[in-house]
Order: sequence, then structure tokens, then C-alpha cells
Amino acid sequence: MSGLVMQANRFALDPTPAQERDLARHAGAARFAFNWALAQVKANLGQRAAERSGKRKGRKVGFPRFKSRRRARPSIRFTTGVIRVEPGHKHVTLPRVGTIKTHESTRKLARRLEIGTARIVSATVRCEARRWYCAFTVEIQRAARRPSHPQATVGVDLGITHLAVLSDGRVMANPRHLNKAMRGLRSASRTLSRRRGPDRPATQRPSKRWDRARQKVNRLHTRVGNLRKDGLHKLTSRLATTYGTIGLEDLNVAGMLRNWRLARHICDAGFGEIRRQLDYKTRWNGGRLVIADRWFASSKTCSDCGAAKPELSLSVRTFTCEYCGLVIDRDLNASVNLKQYVAQSGWETRNGRGADQKTGPGPAGGCETSIPHQVAVQDGNLRLVTGESLGTT
Ligand SMILES: [Zn+2]
Repeated sequence: MSGLVMQANRFALDPTPAQERDLARHAGAARFAFNWALAQVKANLGQRAAERSGKRKGRKVGFPRFKSRRRARPSIRFTTGVIRVEPGHKHVTLPRVGTIKTHESTRKLARRLEIGTARIVSATVRCEARRWYCAFTVEIQRAARRPSHPQATVGVDLGITHLAVLSDGRVMANPRHLNKAMRGLRSASRTLSRRRGPDRPATQRPSKRWDRARQKVNRLHTRVGNLRKDGLHKLTSRLATTYGTIGLEDLNVAGMLRNWRLARHICDAGFGEIRRQLDYKTRWNGGRLVIADRWFASSKTCSDCGAAKPELSLSVRTFTCEYCGLVIDRDLNASVNLKQYVAQSGWETRNGRGADQKTGPGPAGGCETSIPHQVAVQDGNLRLVTGESLGTT
């Protein structure tokens, strides 16, 4: 897709101690203004509050709440004044606060600004886990792009054993960052629980040591989040820049989270985020995302003869078909089904299935024979016959 796109560019900052105090003060003033305005609105609404039904689609959203000095995340948004990325790619200039050193290079954004394909609309400075970030909201003129294999269709099965299994046999491992960080997190949380924290009824202030312990827990969580974000972006970018059409299951993430055994793993894998990223990245790269119907039984259907099983427990990792005798890894079977779903839904017809297969050694569109049906399962892990792992994650 070409055209104007709003995009955020975020950079970590390295403010001096004086600048840091300045930023905190500005954020505090913004919070004060927010609370003042909210109090005005509340006073006006007063009586009518009970009449509001608050009906809307999706999750219930409550009335805005006052921001507390202790709990609210310091943040300020600038929409007017001097907002600039300095030449040299190492500083940004913001209104009132002045020029602040950035922790990372602003080269990518600066280049777009120089050639005139980007315009800064606003800047938001935020403090997260003791680090300040500046996020520029940028209006970007995007050039039309094409994926490297525009004719290729791929089915993607998201899972917990593997983050994703592609219909061409590639497997993206689930890095399970949270599990790896669990040991450190447990010990840090234990330390935190032994410190004297805040006590609301007695209005007891938390101790300095509690504050420090809490910062440690927060840092670990932030690190897990950053690792996850990095991995997901790499995965979705690779998919969106490679394949013309991507078939994905319509996962009921909110429903799955109700299963408390799986919830932590699903959150860690970030299924909802994968879908969101694929949605806009396929549009940016000239591909498309096809979401299968929620009731499409991708796991319970045989990808070879189409026979459906009435039941398939989650613990069964290998799909065995009673009708045609196909033995295939469960997730690979699901991803092949998703690919076939895309083909049947008519999304592919414009390209003509198998019209151009000379696009290189990559996955060929609509060529089912390239899918390895012989998959060895070794100690619970999938070993595939073809295809190296796509990403490093
Ligand atoms: Zn079968």
C-alpha cells in the first residue's frame, strides 16, 4: 500500500539529571492539568452519572480516573512548538525542555525527514521502568512495496509448542522469554514481598528498600516485554515481506485466556499482537492477510483427504487420519489446512494458482506437493524434512 500512514518512531533518551528533573516536572504539570479538567467534567456530569449506560462493542471502558502522583506513568505530549530531530542523529529538541541526547540513533527517522517523506505531528515523552523515551508521531509517505514472493500463499498456525508453524514446513520456535526469566522474577518478587511496602489503611509509606526491590521486578518484566516485542516484529516482518497471502486462524484470544493453564503461555507468545502486526504489515508490503472463519476446524481436519475428526485433544501432537492414513505433525496439518482454506475462499484466484513458480527457491504458490508429510517427532520436538528456520527467534 502506498500513501500517507501515521507511524510512531520511538527513541530511548539519555537526559542529564537536570533534564530528567525537568521532564518529571513537566509530566507532573500535565497530570495536574488532566486532573483539573477531569474534576471540571465530573462536577458538570455529577447528577447524570447514574443515567449513563456505557454500552459499546468490546471490553467495558470506565470513566477516566484521577491520576495519582505515585501510580501514574509520567508522560507529556507536545503538539506545538519546536519538535526536531537534530543533525548528527544523536539529539532531539522538544519545546520547553530543549535538546536532549538520545540513547539510540535517530538516523532512520532523520533520513525520512530530510528527503521529505515524513512530517512530525507530535512528540510524547514517557518514562517506563526508569527510562525516558520520546515517541514521535509521524505522518509518512510510504512507497508501494511488493513481497518477495507475491504469488506465494502460506498458512500460519500459531501455537505454544512452537510460536508458528508454516504450511511449507518452516518452524518458528517459541522463545518463551517469560519462562526463562521466571527464576529471576521469582527471586526478585520474593525479595519485594519481604520489604516494607505501602500500607493503605495505615497510610504507611513504602521503604526505600521496597522501592528498589520493586524497580528490580519492573526491570525484569520490561526486559521480557522488550525481548518478546523484538521477536514478534521480526517474525511478522519476515512473513509480510516474503509471502503475498498469509492465512491465519481467527483465534479467540480473550476466550483462550480464560483457560488459566494456558493464559500465561498465550500472553507470552503474543497471539493477538501477531495478528495485529500482520494486519498492517501485509497492507504496507502489498500482501494480504486472510483470517479463517472462527469455526474453521484447522486442527481437526485431515489436510490430505479432508476428513474431520469429532475430537482432538490438545495433548495429541501428531495427527493420524483414519481414512487415508496420513501421519503429520498436528500444527503443520493445521497450517496446511489454513493455506487450503485461503485457496478455496477465492482469495488466490486473481494470481492464478501456480502461475509463476519461478520466483526462486522459496515456497511456491499453491504447490501442495512441496509440503513434507513425513515429519519426525523427536523428544516432543518437530524435525522437518525441508526448509530452514525463517527467523532467528
Ligand atoms: Zn485423511
